[in-house]
Amino acid sequence: MSKAAPKVGTVYLVGAGPGDPDLLTLRAARLLMNAKVVVHDGLVDPAILAMAPRTARMISVAKSRSRHTMKQQDINALLVREALEGNDVIRLKGGDPFVFGRGGEEAEDCLAAGVTVQVVPGISAAMGAAASAMIPLTHRDSASIVSFVAGQCKGLTDQNWAGLAGKGRTLVIYMGVATAEAIAEKLMADGLAPDMPVAVVENAARPEMRVLRGSLAGLGPLVAENKVRSPALIVIGEVTGRGDMMELKQVLEMAR
Ligand code: SAH
Repeated sequence: MSKAAPKVGTVYLVGAGPGDPDLLTLRAARLLMNAKVVVHDGLVDPAILAMAPRTARMISVAKSRSRHTMKQQDINALLVREALEGNDVIRLKGGDPFVFGRGGEEAEDCLAAGVTVQVVPGISAAMGAAASAMIPLTHRDSASIVSFVAGQCKGLTDQNWAGLAGKGRTLVIYMGVATAEAIAEKLMADGLAPDMPVAVVENAARPEMRVLRGSLAGLGPLVAENKVRSPALIVIGEVTGRGDMMELKQVLEMAR
């Protein structure tokens, strides 16, 4: 009698959103609450990880600032191995899995190995930061184009950013803390006005969130003097300077 072919698990690439557990999708929460194996990176809030059953196997593949870094290829191999052993795997990633999350690479390797992949979208940091800092990414009067770019060195030197920022446009920069000064210089060299408003949103959608506002020419010092740390987003465009909606909101809330 031949044995039945072993069951192959499914890999769920799940977006965990920017931090606040309330910003998970219902689907992400349901998958997490029934998880047997969770593979997560460093950006996922502990309160979200705590939603998994106690019996779940939690595997951290934290990358940022961790000494025990795991290479992307090894993460991909881990997901494939677990699935081929018959386990459904919840691969939990900060924000959205397909926005600077390397979810594309993980999905490709899984599919190439015959492993089914499902993607559960999450609220990307740009949306989380926009909501918490009261920065409308588009606005009928201020911006009808919004771009997401990666600000780390590779993105910065390889990419042509001409046309991404300026009048009527909002530029959201992920992973740009270390290169903020260089980013401002690059954009000003491209012709952007030094007084273009900018905002830096650190720890968006988390209790320790900070929102700093300034101008493009002052972006480098703004980040350095306030000791901004990752995770933080830089938003460049007129939408960040619209009458400081956050202050208006706070005044209104205090008056109530
Ligand atoms: N997949 C994620 C992005 C991963 S890249 C997403 O869709 O949001 C990591 C970068 O995302 C960080 O360097 C930072 O720029 C940004 N980021 C993630 N979470 C953030 C948060 N809570 N506040 C501000 N920026 C955040």
